[in-house]
Amino acid sequence: MPSPPAVDSTVPESKHRIYLDHAATSWPKADGVTDAMVEFMTNVGASASRGNHASAMKASERVRSLRSKLARFVNAESADCVSFHSGCTSALNAVVHGLVGPSHDIGRGSHILTSSVEHNAVLRPMLVAAKAADARVEEVASDANGSLQVNEVIGKIDDATRLVALSHVSNVTGTVQPIAEIGEAIAEINQSRNASNRILFLCDAAQSLGYVPIDIQTLGVRALAAPAHKGCGGPPGIGMLYLSPEWHDRIQPWMQGGTGHDGRSDAMPQTMPGKLEPGTMNLPAIAGWTAAMNSMAALEDSATELAALSQQLHVGLNGIDGIQVFGRPGPLPIASLDFGPELPPDDAAAILDAEFGIEVRSGHHCAARIHRHLGTDSAGTLRISGGHGTTPEEIDAVIAAVAEIAAQIT
Ligand code: PLP
Repeated sequence: MPSPPAVDSTVPESKHRIYLDHAATSWPKADGVTDAMVEFMTNVGASASRGNHASAMKASERVRSLRSKLARFVNAESADCVSFHSGCTSALNAVVHGLVGPSHDIGRGSHILTSSVEHNAVLRPMLVAAKAADARVEEVASDANGSLQVNEVIGKIDDATRLVALSHVSNVTGTVQPIAEIGEAIAEINQSRNASNRILFLCDAAQSLGYVPIDIQTLGVRALAAPAHKGCGGPPGIGMLYLSPEWHDRIQPWMQGGTGHDGRSDAMPQTMPGKLEPGTMNLPAIAGWTAAMNSMAALEDSATELAALSQQLHVGLNGIDGIQVFGRPGPLPIASLDFGPELPPDDAAAILDAEFGIEVRSGHHCAARIHRHLGTDSAGTLRISGGHGTTPEEIDAVIAAVAEIAAQIT
C-alpha cells in the first residue's frame, strides 16, 4: 500500500466535499441557521436576562422561546427543566459535578454505573467527581458491535447505585442502546426506594437529538444532555440539559457567576434553570438553534431516509473483502471500520480525503474504552457518518472508495 499522500490544499473545494463526518458535527447546517445568527447579531445583539431595554427583552424572549420549544420537543414536564450550556460536554459536566461530590447528593460510598461505550464528555467528569466523592464507578461492557444488554446493566445495580449514565447512540458504531427498557427497569427499582436514594438515570443524547425521536417520559431518563450542532443541524457553542423536577433542588451549581437576577446576593439563585446558567448566554447560537428546530424536516420522513442510508452503508461495506466493519444497520448511517495493520485508520482517512474528496474521521473518537471490545485499541477505527442531507450517491461513493483502497491492500 502506498504511504498516504499529504493533504493537498490545492485540491479544489468541490472535490473536498463529500462530508461524512456528521457524528463530529453536522454540515451543511439546517436551513436558515446562518441567516438567523446574522439577523440576531445585526438587529438585536443584546444580552438576555440583563436589562429592561427593548433589545434585552427581545434577547430574553428568544431564550424563553427556544427553551419552551426544546421542552416540547423532548416532552419535558416544563420549560424550567431545560437549561442551556456551551455544549453537550458542559451540560454533562453540569449534571455530573452538580450531583456527584463529597457534599453532593451522590456522595461517599455511592455506586455509579456506566458503560464501555461512553464518550469522554461523560466519562472524564464522572471519574473526577467520583474520585472526589469517594464513589465507586463500574462499567458495563458492550458486545463487539457496541451494544449493551438490558439485563447486564440492571444486574449490576445494587443498593448503593445512585447514578446510571449511558449514551443513547454510540458515536463509534451508531448502535442505539435500549434506553427505554433500562429506564423502565430503573423506574421499578426506584419505586421501592425513598426519595433520598433514588437512582438518577442520565442519558447522553449527543448523537440522537434531532435524529432519533426523544420522549423523556417514554425513555424514563431523569437527565439528558444534547448539543445543537449534531442531529439538530444547529450551530456549535450551545447545548441543553434536561433535568427532571425531582432533582431541581438537589443539584448544585457547578459554576458560579452572574445570572442577571438576585444580583445583590453572594450566592447563586436556587431556582432552575438559572442556577445552572451563569454568564452571558450564546445568543447567536440560540438564534441559530431556533432556526434549526423550525426547519427540521418531519422527523419520521427523515428517519426513513436515514435508516435506508444506514442499510445501504452497512450492506455495501460488509460486501468488501479485507475490512472489518463494526455496528449494524440501524436508524443512523454510521459505521466504523478497520483495514487491518497494513493501513492504519489515520492513513486511510487521509487517502479518502486527498484522493477521493471524502471527509471522514479516524482514531478513537473520544471514546477509548469501546475500542478494547472492538479489538481496535491501538489505532482506533475509520468512522463514516452521514446525517440529514446525506445522499445515497454519497454513500455509494464512500463504499466504492473503501473497496478500491481495500483492493490495493489485499
Ligand atoms: N457524547 C457523545 C456520544 C458525543 O459523540 C459527543 C461529541 O462528539 C459528546 C458527548 C460531546 O459533545 P460536544 O462536543 O458537542 O460537547
